[in-house]
Amino acid sequence: MFSINETHRFFAPQLDVPLRLLLGPGPSNAHPRVLQAIAMPQIGHLDPAFIQVMNDIQEMLRYAWQTDNPFTLPVSGTGSAAMEAAIANLVEPGDVVLIGVIGYFGERLVEMASRYGADVRRMDKPWGEVFTLDEISAGVETHRPTLLGLVHAETSTGALQPMDGVGDLCRAHDCLLLIDTVTSLGTTPIFLDEWGVDAAYSCSQKGLSCPPGASPFTLGERALAKLHGRRTKVANWYLDMSILSQYWDGKTRSYHHTAPINSMYAVREGLRLVVEEGLAERWARHQANAQRLWDGLTELDLACHVNDPAHRIPALTTVRVPAGIDARDTAVRLLNDYNIEIAGGFGPLAGKVWRIGLMGHNSRPENVTLLLAALKEILGR
Ligand code: PLP
Repeated sequence: MFSINETHRFFAPQLDVPLRLLLGPGPSNAHPRVLQAIAMPQIGHLDPAFIQVMNDIQEMLRYAWQTDNPFTLPVSGTGSAAMEAAIANLVEPGDVVLIGVIGYFGERLVEMASRYGADVRRMDKPWGEVFTLDEISAGVETHRPTLLGLVHAETSTGALQPMDGVGDLCRAHDCLLLIDTVTSLGTTPIFLDEWGVDAAYSCSQKGLSCPPGASPFTLGERALAKLHGRRTKVANWYLDMSILSQYWDGKTRSYHHTAPINSMYAVREGLRLVVEEGLAERWARHQANAQRLWDGLTELDLACHVNDPAHRIPALTTVRVPAGIDARDTAVRLLNDYNIEIAGGFGPLAGKVWRIGLMGHNSRPENVTLLLAALKEILGR
């Protein structure tokens, strides 16, 4: 007989978390309706009522991304899981993969692609800048990749990569186009089909105003052809879309893994909010509140890190920290004295910028006013 070891029998106190206004790079606050949805009772992952939830999510995601792709679903896991799903399914060992690196999340794509055995080539830009179409074209001409990966909204720098012409370029070179829309979905204009994007992924905790945990993912026809024509098995079982699709595709509905039921309720409600508001209105709201923030920052004599407003992500602004100010100290005071979370920069931007998010439900004029007032007090301006 073994005796029970009581060493770790720790009586944790009842959960008590502070109410924060999350104005950093994510997560953003979940919409109250999303929190209500997530608290609904669980049903089984093969229950006809849950199948309806899945169908609803897929159709509303197609709207949010502006795509007709039948293969559109949320991956179980955070944005990085959806990112890894894209690489794991579309890259085979030895494939030449070209990644545009304009910040940290481009670096992460490079790292993932190399772990899946790709012959990774990279194009780099200083953090805060974006590629021109000519630069992308030169990269594709030089490296002749099977896949080009770009980060549409680079959350580490605040820069928004223009997508005009990139899809045509990729098609002309028989190359797949993969884009990261983690910070742009539900906040910034995206036209996946018009842009000729073959694969994309996102997250739930930013523009969709959900908790993290279920992350949108889509593959177009060309990407599916690559998946179905693979010489090798997808090296990640959990993220293998050729088997997961049998649960989502509407025909077999065969078990792959237990879907995170309540996270799917959340995504469904987050998407319902997008549909209700309408994409044009939602994108305009994010742009207007970003402009309100940028104008207020100018009044406080603070500058945006991304010079050209057309290349700024409306949902995520990087602000240069003035000389003599400790970036971290300001963020700590915002959190402790005002319950507002913002973030600092990292990598080459460590200590040099603050990152301010106005995402989904949090993109509201009163949040901008509050943050600017708090910054004004803290910085003594
Ligand atoms: N890609 C971008 C552009 C991101 O901003 C993030 C997270 O902030 C990710 C990928 C990874 O997402 P997650 O942290 O949800 O795994």
